[in-house]
Amino acid sequence: MRSHNHGHGHGEQGMLSVEEAYDRVMASFGPLEPVETPLLDALGLVLAVDVDSPLDLPPLANSGMDGYAVRSEDIRNVSPDSPSRLRVIGLVAAGQRPTQEVEPGTAIRIMTGAPVPGGADTVVPFEETDEVRRRQAGLPLDEIAILSGLPPGRNVRPAGEDVGRGQRVLEAGTVVRPAEIGVMASLGLERVEVIRRPVVSILATGDELVPAGRALEGGKIYDSNSFSVAASVVACGGVPRHLGIARDNMEDLESKLRAVAGSDLVITSAGVSRGDYDMVKDVLTSRGDMNFWSVRMRPAKPLAFGHLRAEGEKEVPLLGLPGNPVSAMVAFEMFARPAIRTMLGRRPAPRPAVEGVLTGPIYNEDGRRVYARVQVETRSGTYYATPTGPQGSNILTSMSRANGLAICPEDLPGKQAGDRVRIIMLDWNEEVFI
Ligand code: AMP
Ligand code: MG
Repeated sequence: MRSHNHGHGHGEQGMLSVEEAYDRVMASFGPLEPVETPLLDALGLVLAVDVDSPLDLPPLANSGMDGYAVRSEDIRNVSPDSPSRLRVIGLVAAGQRPTQEVEPGTAIRIMTGAPVPGGADTVVPFEETDEVRRRQAGLPLDEIAILSGLPPGRNVRPAGEDVGRGQRVLEAGTVVRPAEIGVMASLGLERVEVIRRPVVSILATGDELVPAGRALEGGKIYDSNSFSVAASVVACGGVPRHLGIARDNMEDLESKLRAVAGSDLVITSAGVSRGDYDMVKDVLTSRGDMNFWSVRMRPAKPLAFGHLRAEGEKEVPLLGLPGNPVSAMVAFEMFARPAIRTMLGRRPAPRPAVEGVLTGPIYNEDGRRVYARVQVETRSGTYYATPTGPQGSNILTSMSRANGLAICPEDLPGKQAGDRVRIIMLDWNEEVFI
């Protein structure tokens, strides 16, 4: 194995393990500062503060059913054969404030969610009264027969049943899901403090690259990395900022990199592998403290990481992804996604992984850890992983056909059909289980 040492931080064999590269990248990241946002914008973000309830929830005792609010002592030993007849003195709907009390021998018609009137301690649902029979007989509803004896408190939701005033409802560090949005809305909160989203600047490099929408002349290709990376940034909660395409010359790279000020991370693609024009490396090295690594993985062996000096600003971490489109996406998955999650205040947790059975081989020619693109399906409770065709790091459609990455460890020459493999699930969607 040839060593090609372009910076500090190399191991003896000139290659870093995936774990070493991960640790070195992750050492530069921590949670960003909090911001206040409108409630709905907090979805997917992490609470920066504990949320204590300013009120009782529900604020008042209210009915859990449509029915009659009664005094339980008035309906103590009743049954369909010996009902209790009560005088109906009024009606209270949701959103109203009761103006009358339930005196002995009386009832108030009540709707779900309406405050329970004073004096009443129980709500009898319509079905346990003779209301329907009365309506059919054309009798007035100024009187009602209660057909079953309910204990005190039945169908009454007490004040503070869900949350008491001053109670801690959500803790700082909680990831806000729709349920948390709902809980905070139920407390009347319009805004909330969360860890802000990181701004991630994205720069493609290469003389061969053309932006979508332009004609493709001889020798050129469309820039896909800017888009797959930007989409990946959005998918893990960051805000992408496109810096465009830098040509393989010092001036253009320098000028494009000037725009990184104010971002939390810069992601470049291409120009970091061996045998490339060394422009990207030279420019990055002159503008910061950069490391160029070979990581013992396939795809995505070349990787750059360091810090750029941004004029008059604090240093910005820079992750240089390989140029090949699959390598760029896999390196993003392994190193950029955990960094972005960490900045969001989330755990850098990897994707869920499963054990499955391979339906075709994975080859490992040179002792790297192979991440093979596979389509995972479940049949009779077993996960089956099928390689998605040719595994070249330029074949981006193999990524599109995949929902997982099956791992062949660095010390195995490969895996055969029928072998068990560990699979990182890129999409953990319902379709896997069909
Ligand atoms: P490099 O690292 O510059 O040697 O690039 C490796 C390979 O990735 C080459 O085939 C490039 O044409 C290709 N490549 C580099 N950048 C991009 C990009 N932004 N979109 C698509 N392919 C790219
Ligand atoms: Mg290039």
